[in-house]
Amino acid sequence: MRAAAALAALPAALAAFPSVRRARAAGATGRRGASPPAFGPPAPASPPTASAAARPPFDPWIEIDPGALRHNAAEVARAAGGRPILAVVKNNAYGLGLAQVGRVLERSAEVDGLAVVTAAAAWEALEAGVTKPILLMARADDEEAETLVARGVRLATIDEAAADQVTRLSRRLDRPIPVHVYLDTGMNRVGIAFRRAIAFLEVLATSGARVEGMLTDFTETDDFDPVQLERLRAVVRDAGAAGHDLGRLHAASSHGLFFRRDALLDMVRPGLVLYGAYPAGTMGRGDVALRPAFRLKARVARVERLEAGDGVSYGRNYVATGPTWVATLPVGHADGYPRGSVNGCVVWSAGRTYPVVGAVSASHTIIELGAEPSVRVGQEGVLIGPDHPDVHPNAVADRAGVSVYDVLMHLGARLPRRI
Ligand SMILES: *Cc1c(COP(=O)(O)O)cnc(C)c1O
Repeated sequence: MRAAAALAALPAALAAFPSVRRARAAGATGRRGASPPAFGPPAPASPPTASAAARPPFDPWIEIDPGALRHNAAEVARAAGGRPILAVVKNNAYGLGLAQVGRVLERSAEVDGLAVVTAAAAWEALEAGVTKPILLMARADDEEAETLVARGVRLATIDEAAADQVTRLSRRLDRPIPVHVYLDTGMNRVGIAFRRAIAFLEVLATSGARVEGMLTDFTETDDFDPVQLERLRAVVRDAGAAGHDLGRLHAASSHGLFFRRDALLDMVRPGLVLYGAYPAGTMGRGDVALRPAFRLKARVARVERLEAGDGVSYGRNYVATGPTWVATLPVGHADGYPRGSVNGCVVWSAGRTYPVVGAVSASHTIIELGAEPSVRVGQEGVLIGPDHPDVHPNAVADRAGVSVYDVLMHLGARLPRRI
């Protein structure tokens, strides 16, 4: 009864997620009949038509480049010496959109599965049609876990209580429960403390678990990561001696791909690089050639001429020293474009870049055109994307003074995603 209630309740709870609603409205899950938007043009996620493609609305949007995702997966696998990828698609696939990105990534031959950090995301990936294994790297209660395991999701052991949960689940479902042993080698965040790993494996062996893998995560510090790797190796040795099969070992994130070449193990587990951005300090390092897999775009909503002394936006941080033209894009920090973009970021449009001037407000960004009104209303601008080195996600992060992870993960969850 409780399980049945959970089955019914989980999708209902997830319907509250806009991306799920959009995906459903678009028929992505094969379900139709969602009510149309109350007003305005059709939701951009609806099946594209020729006229919609030729004349997109003025609202900002995110463009997903499936070719770049596939390229990055191939490039990451190559850099990892041909090891398979467990693609981390947490936090809405780093802001790009889980349903769309998950489906593209799982079709890449290099990708063996997807990893998420919430039960809701695991469910969303399933509903989007993902069929490769999904690893839930988070605690789930029994009802969520049963619902997800019944659909093939793999669980990770967040602490010792995981063994009891696996025992309950294997009895209820009457089958082995696929599990990845999450080992805490010093992050002290989640996982089984390495000092108690063997004791835990003894208990887990009686629980009905089928151990498919063991993972850990690095603190990404040069002096301590080697200590963590040695702790992992010690557990592997002791587990082997005690007769425990650990399946595939995985630890390396994007950072590890560049800096922990001795810890690529059986499988790599990156997120950021799959989306085409580089961990801080790695751009141009090594021979990993990634392509940003998204664009934050908007169309110019207004073009105006300023006279000397005219300021723009809140605070009048920018004041024209002579006649000049500016253009307004209806996209701002509420959509994920960093406020700090005014400190050197540019917008790319029709082959040129234009500096951002004045304060980036919630829904507006203003660019300076110069002596000529060189863009027109309706023209597309790229605020973040692959089109020019100065709008690359890493360039935007550096210039805006934020982490490149924030540049991706803060992309407005409600912006329409277009493939
Ligand atoms: C986020 C995450 C990753 C991926 O990290 P990137 O730096 O984006 O490659 C890997 N493993 C775990 C446990 C994570 O939480």
